Amino acid sequence: MAQMPTEILNILHSAGYEAYYVGGCVRDILLGREVHDWDITTSALPEEVMACFPHCIPTGVRHGTVTVLLDQVKAEVTTYRTDGRYEDGRHPDQVTFVRSLREDLARRDFTINAMAMDGAEKITDLFEGQSDLKRRLLRCVGEPLRRFQEDALRMLRALRFSAQLSFTLEPQTELAIRQCAPLARNLSAERVREEMEKTLLSEHPERLDDMAAMGLLEAFTELGGTSCRWIADLPPDRTVRWAALCRSWPNLKLEALRLDRRTTRTALAAAASKPPQSTAAWKQLIADQGTQLAEVVAALAGCPEQIEEILNSGQCVCLRDLAVRGSDFPQLHGQEVGKLLHTLLCHVLEHPEDNQKEILLKIARRQN
Ligand code: ATP
Ligand code: MG
Repeated sequence: MAQMPTEILNILHSAGYEAYYVGGCVRDILLGREVHDWDITTSALPEEVMACFPHCIPTGVRHGTVTVLLDQVKAEVTTYRTDGRYEDGRHPDQVTFVRSLREDLARRDFTINAMAMDGAEKITDLFEGQSDLKRRLLRCVGEPLRRFQEDALRMLRALRFSAQLSFTLEPQTELAIRQCAPLARNLSAERVREEMEKTLLSEHPERLDDMAAMGLLEAFTELGGTSCRWIADLPPDRTVRWAALCRSWPNLKLEALRLDRRTTRTALAAAASKPPQSTAAWKQLIADQGTQLAEVVAALAGCPEQIEEILNSGQCVCLRDLAVRGSDFPQLHGQEVGKLLHTLLCHVLEHPEDNQKEILLKIARRQN
């Protein structure tokens, strides 16, 4: 658990400002879950916050957020604010700083994310968040249709939180998502991807099936895949799970989600690969495609031990471990070097004892 920034709260208090823990950290404390980052909401303006602490990062001063660092402890401190109109359904056009906690809590997305806690652990809960936590419900703060029209990302967040926390959607909130789903088309790929990935890595990746069925992912996939339920049994590794999603949903436009190129490439290749049937064939896959791809293929096939055994044996499995380098063959040019090293690697995978410079040079001479 990230360390609690009690002293940051105290200092803001002593300077005469109101300050509370807010949002996800309060929710997670009440649920007994690990808190990974601390958000503080305060009546102090960003400049006033910065005047209180020697080490601050002006993370998003325009939106009121300053990251405060104090004795190895960190918190995001945000001024009480309301969001202006969302012309594009994406970002608040303007934020207005306000002086009341009530208004700040009212702008938040779900009742369970709209609670504050003071230094004495007293909870401010204006929207029945604690009752929704008990009933394990995700419910919008305020009128759901309006809240989703303001910011379409909230629909994906609703399903993401329901996956992470094993909560259900309150019926009015769910109905509004079904009605507002087409607005999700305006969201940037990065923001959609982030919510998809958090859902994919949760204990309930099958909530992605609901996201798609409700029409929230129309920009990225067509319906017609198989259920994502099986993905819950895979290790919570992002490449493995994206590869699994590509398997389940052959229509997924992975490139359109703008993941980093390495993850995209590995996930697509692993999704299309059949697991090899012998140790020799696994070694061949490692030699041809690299260890990362082979590990993902093994995870998807439910046999990670196949690859672990090979990797843990300490034998040479990649060009880096080979007892010769390209520079040992100055007479060869360009692609010839790569081809030879690959041949030698294939040989060494079959005969680990031959990974010695003299032996490999001899084999190389035979090759030419
Ligand atoms: P996580 O554990 O994923 O960090 P979180 O609840 O802390 O969950 P954040 O995205 O870090 O989520 O946002 C912090 C808080 O800001 C939320 O708890 C919520 O109160 C508010 N919030 C975030 N995004 C939105 C949004 N799109 N609309 C309204 N309120 C939001
Ligand atoms: Mg957070």
